[in-house]
Amino acid sequence: MKTGYLIDMDGVIYRENRLIPGAAEFVTALVDTGIPFLFLTNNSAPTPEDLTVRLKHLGIANIAPRSFYTSALNTADFLSETHPGCTVLALGEGGLLTALHQRNIASDALKPDYVVVGEGMVAMEKLTKAHECIERGARLLATNPDNWCPVGPDQTRPGAGATAAFLEASTGQRAYYLGKPNGYMFHRARRKLTELAHGGPEQVVMIGDTMETDIRGATEAGINSFLVMTGSTTLAAVRGYVYPPTRILHSVADLTEEIKTGQPSDRLDSPVFTQPIGERGRIGQQHQTDYLHVATPRLRPAMTRG
Ligand SMILES: [Mg+2]
Repeated sequence: MKTGYLIDMDGVIYRENRLIPGAAEFVTALVDTGIPFLFLTNNSAPTPEDLTVRLKHLGIANIAPRSFYTSALNTADFLSETHPGCTVLALGEGGLLTALHQRNIASDALKPDYVVVGEGMVAMEKLTKAHECIERGARLLATNPDNWCPVGPDQTRPGAGATAAFLEASTGQRAYYLGKPNGYMFHRARRKLTELAHGGPEQVVMIGDTMETDIRGATEAGINSFLVMTGSTTLAAVRGYVYPPTRILHSVADLTEEIKTGQPSDRLDSPVFTQPIGERGRIGQQHQTDYLHVATPRLRPAMTRG
């Protein structure tokens, strides 16, 4: 069966600017066998060209910019399809600004149709401008729902979801979130994969490390999902979700041999299953009285906005 792969990047191919062991061989196997694939990322800051360079520095060369589909491209596709000729005030970086420009979506700082929030640093002046535009009637869009994104073992940075939440709070308007797990991201990615493959693959598989975005979006789009253990999800946490991945792999390296031979693995599944599965973590306060404790910090929101 001809399979095409949608592949998340952070936590699947690299993590904290280091290549995940076996990821380069996995990508090489895809390229050598001509199997269609598309890198799918919720990071709207880089352009596809930037991502080509990033992978090259990590040791994966010659990946064409057309092999990447970012939430910025998804947002530009969405606006040009649903509202041709619209104008926007964009809060974001090169990846978002370039994507909007390529779709001929004009910038308007006075009375735009949309405020579009992407990944990246934003000054209070720009947030104030966005707030005023929304008060004048602009609708609020975000490229992706991530409240925070990992940048190191113990370090995160604020994501587009958090910036959009600021404007939701100040204006009372709700944002619409593109990127994974939004079905429009998977719909357009699938279409792009079909174009790259010169005809539809018979089955599409999403490979990702995050349950709320990669696995949820794939499940809702009706495609197979492979969860890897090299990113943000622990095996114990998988049980807490109602949408199970089709397969759980230790890493993308588990797939390399399968891709080269064209034969599904004769293992029952990844060696990851030899690890004991821990108890499902409980959600919420342990005791009913805990909320009275004034020193209890406010709960941090989930990684993505639901
Ligand atoms: Mg990821």
